[in-house]
Amino acid sequence: MSDPRRELPSVNALLAHERVRSLLDRAPRTVVTEAVRVVIDRARGDPAAAPRDAAEWASAVEAAVVQRQQPSLRPVYNATGVVLHTNLGRAPLADAAIAAIRDTAAGYSTLEYDLERGRRGSRSAHCVELLRELTGAEDALVANNCAAALVLTLNTLAVRREALVSRGELIEIGGSFRVPSIMAKSGARLVEVGTTNRTYVHDYAAAITTRTGAIVKVHRSNFAVSGFVAEASLGELAALARDRGLPLLHDFGSGLLIPLDRWGLAGEPIARDAVAAGASVVVMSGDKLLGGPQAGVIVGDAALVARLRSNPLMRALRVDKLTLAALEATLMLYRDPSTAVATVPVLSMLTATAAAVRQRADAAAARLRRAGVTCDVIETVASVGGGAFPTARIASAAVAIRADATGAETRLRRAQPAVIGRLADGAVLLDLRTVPADHDRAFVDTVARALVAGGG
Ligand SMILES: *Cc1c(COP(=O)(O)O)cnc(C)c1O
Repeated sequence: MSDPRRELPSVNALLAHERVRSLLDRAPRTVVTEAVRVVIDRARGDPAAAPRDAAEWASAVEAAVVQRQQPSLRPVYNATGVVLHTNLGRAPLADAAIAAIRDTAAGYSTLEYDLERGRRGSRSAHCVELLRELTGAEDALVANNCAAALVLTLNTLAVRREALVSRGELIEIGGSFRVPSIMAKSGARLVEVGTTNRTYVHDYAAAITTRTGAIVKVHRSNFAVSGFVAEASLGELAALARDRGLPLLHDFGSGLLIPLDRWGLAGEPIARDAVAAGASVVVMSGDKLLGGPQAGVIVGDAALVARLRSNPLMRALRVDKLTLAALEATLMLYRDPSTAVATVPVLSMLTATAAAVRQRADAAAARLRRAGVTCDVIETVASVGGGAFPTARIASAAVAIRADATGAETRLRRAQPAVIGRLADGAVLLDLRTVPADHDRAFVDTVARALVAGGG
């Protein structure tokens, strides 16, 4: 009986191999040593797949070193056709936002410094003027994300008091955001009003007591209801709230600042309308349709925003300078809506014509075929994602790879950078709408490298 473990080399023997030793020029000793251990452990766990000679052992160590040297968070091509893909990082930033991050990150900044007076300034002063301009609100504040904005707002307005929400709005957005759980953590007591499909203003009115701290309206952003349904409008609720001296908090979600009806994306409210309808405080995400960095944008009545700002919880939920830099640069683009549509990537991807995307898909397919990849182009339906315009079906186009679709999907996912497509009807579909147009050539090269000659 031979024990296969006896044939495993020692760590020192592998480290002495010339090719392994030369890895020390490219990687720290700890990384190489750890890679050697991992490769030996793996061989011990699966002797059948163990390297068979010195050259194979060296290759295995090289691969392990490369893998350990790679960041865990790295860029990918989103070829899924889902523009705001939460798993793939939601909104890509505009060039102006990227430049602002670079400038701010590289040195010191006016983060909490007042240049006029030559003394300490306030972090919460940034973006306020722009947000007032763009939404019509009296004041504004930026928190870490929309969930944080909601916790902060509820904690400020309704801690140990009751917050009224329609049963039709107790929603889940992504695996970790559920309106009832978030509300509970804020310290407010949730009082459900109405029914799942129909809630009227009188349901809220009947639930108001001396314990009520706020009325909350949540934008049902990631699904649509139809049939026997009714809901109280923001305007109706604003009138009720005003009448009873209560604040109306609106979780608006998407952060859409300009209407996109002209491009066939109708029905999603814009922030300015939510403010004009009379909500006391409106909270929204920075990295959904607004197209900026992850942030929770809060706009609303000056007196209420001042209370939010002075809540000690704000210290825990505040944003860093890079977020503020990116958000401010993104918001500046909105001063001219046509500039925003042209330069905020989320908006330009959503508003590109189907014909333009088709043309890019045709050109990509032609180049891929010349490189030896068998493919064709099909019409697809892209979507907004990120819990916005849930029913929108955006005409798009994809390169379809049908030969060994599952294997191709895996090789594309392991490419550098990874290409994330989707498997449908026995093909891998690479939707060009979510690939930045100025990356088309590099995208095709990456796909070709991954699929031609076994992905070498
Ligand atoms: C997406 C969304 C949230 C959560 O936003 P984050 O910025 O991811 O925290 C909250 N409410 C609504 C209505 C949303 O659409």
